[in-house]
Amino acid sequence: MSEADNWLAEAKSVVMDDVLAEVGYEVRRRTTDCPSCGEQRRGRADRRRPVGMRRDGLGWQCMRCSVKGDGPAFVAYALTQKPVCRENIAEVRAWYAARGWCEPEVGRPVVVRAVVQRPPPVDQDPTYPPPDELRRLLGLCVPVKEARDEGLAAFLRARGWPDDVGAGWLADGGWRPSWWRWPGYGLVVPAWTADGRLASMHARTVYARSPKTRWPSGYQAGGLLFANIEGRALLRWESRSKHVLICEGVTDTLRASSQAPPGFPVLGGASGAWSALADVRWPAGAKVAVAMDLDGTGRRYQDAIRAAVPGGVEVRPWAMWRRTPAEAAEHADEVACAAK
Ligand SMILES: [Zn+2]
Repeated sequence: MSEADNWLAEAKSVVMDDVLAEVGYEVRRRTTDCPSCGEQRRGRADRRRPVGMRRDGLGWQCMRCSVKGDGPAFVAYALTQKPVCRENIAEVRAWYAARGWCEPEVGRPVVVRAVVQRPPPVDQDPTYPPPDELRRLLGLCVPVKEARDEGLAAFLRARGWPDDVGAGWLADGGWRPSWWRWPGYGLVVPAWTADGRLASMHARTVYARSPKTRWPSGYQAGGLLFANIEGRALLRWESRSKHVLICEGVTDTLRASSQAPPGFPVLGGASGAWSALADVRWPAGAKVAVAMDLDGTGRRYQDAIRAAVPGGVEVRPWAMWRRTPAEAAEHADEVACAAK
């Protein structure tokens, strides 16, 4: 381990409780304000503080803006409003060294600025694309099974998906609003607010292209959910189901929607969506199954979802299935089990 790695390892081993006490952020019930977005609440209806601590006490994550990190990352945001980077790493080290928590950098006195707690952002209404333009663009989408596109057909085939996957197909060409300049992103799903209002749209390319997905440019994308028909009914308080399946990303949401048993609500979101789950009006006794890959990223999403869903709603992990639609019946039992 190099000398440079050594101080960082020492700094990372200081528990968040000690770091937050020194940095001057108030901790209540293992939560605090966010040093990145400055928010002091998780959502409009959820007054809990947005930043939660990792179970091992050495890390944190904001349920509002999804930024996360370890102790040095928190200090970097608190001091400089930026993640740890070349610009501030010496200052972060000096901050830790001043507390005797790591070795100081030899022969380089560094001035550590005072922590400035960000004022919370003004509670502005979120901005979404103009509703008339959004509806017009969605109106140009045809059901996927009516689309004639080689790339789309290959995409569905490669995944073993039926051609009635619950998305629209937006062929290239034709009218476009100023906020949508993404040819080649044809697989379109609407995005909904926590109370089931149409707010935006999200699109996936069927080609090997980066990024894989796009949001309308210039508008807010966080806090919005994807939903199948029953999922939308749940958001609008019109569903009788107590079971809900939550998926990460547009592809998993479509896969789940195409395979879920009839009447089973499926909700999905991209990174930054989960704060919306705090504002959903969950039915009494709701049980949530979180479909995810069993990797580090999947676990982090599961933690973020668990933190956003109010207490009283049961949340269970459910290993993402890899089944063909023909096995949907068997799979339906599995979903119901996971959500029970
Ligand atoms: Zn935040």
